[in-house]
Amino acid sequence: MPTPSPRPCPSCNKAMQVHALPAQYGGTVEIDFCFGCHGLWFDHQENIKLAPAAVATVFKEIHRHRDATHQPLAATLRCAECGERLVQGFDLVRSGRFITHRCEQRHGRFSSFASFMIEKGFVRQLTKPEIADIAAKVGCIHCSSCGAPVDLRKEDACSHCRSPLSLLDPQAVEKALQQYAHAPASAPAAWTTPNQVADAIVAMARESSRLERESPRAAFGRAGTGVLYVDLISVSLGLLSSLWDD
Ligand SMILES: [Zn+2]
Ligand SMILES: [Zn+2]
Ligand SMILES: [Zn+2]
Repeated sequence: MPTPSPRPCPSCNKAMQVHALPAQYGGTVEIDFCFGCHGLWFDHQENIKLAPAAVATVFKEIHRHRDATHQPLAATLRCAECGERLVQGFDLVRSGRFITHRCEQRHGRFSSFASFMIEKGFVRQLTKPEIADIAAKVGCIHCSSCGAPVDLRKEDACSHCRSPLSLLDPQAVEKALQQYAHAPASAPAAWTTPNQVADAIVAMARESSRLERESPRAAFGRAGTGVLYVDLISVSLGLLSSLWDD
């Protein structure tokens, strides 16, 4: 169970929740979560100490807090330790490009949930035909990395941070869970095709406008722009929910 962290979230400044996760060579590593900002704080080098099993816990925690209102990141992020401005950079791994926010005093770094999943190899990039398919159903989504809106009819990557459009890769997730955690014996074979993700977004948009009609203040996950605030990685995480429910 996570406990409140004494440290503030680099983006919203509210107290984060600290979770002790298994480390590679025994012991635990304490990671701070902000579920409202979809962000994780790692002290210097903590991230590489995480045992593979820890990744399954991170997925579960993210899924458990799926109803938390997702807010975009602040323009300026501050170190959870010293309060200095974090410096944005990019890292490249096989499964894509992701944003990192580091403290120059080497106190640590802030990662979005999406960046963490890209870094750990749990996402795959969409192909152009897949993007065209989703665009036919859903015009605009939000970038999983930076939260900027992406018009799928015109763009095949985020024009703000240039992250490619990605989905959680079910095979990679399944493999990790079976190896390190308690995956169901027979996981569904072909979940999270881009089509399913597009359908899920359409359903969410319908639900959102229904809620808005009934009670404008309670509308789902909106960032105050009138646009549904969803991103492909969060939606695909939701579609894999049978894996995270205990
Ligand atoms: Zn926050
Ligand atoms: Zn610092
Ligand atoms: Zn972006």
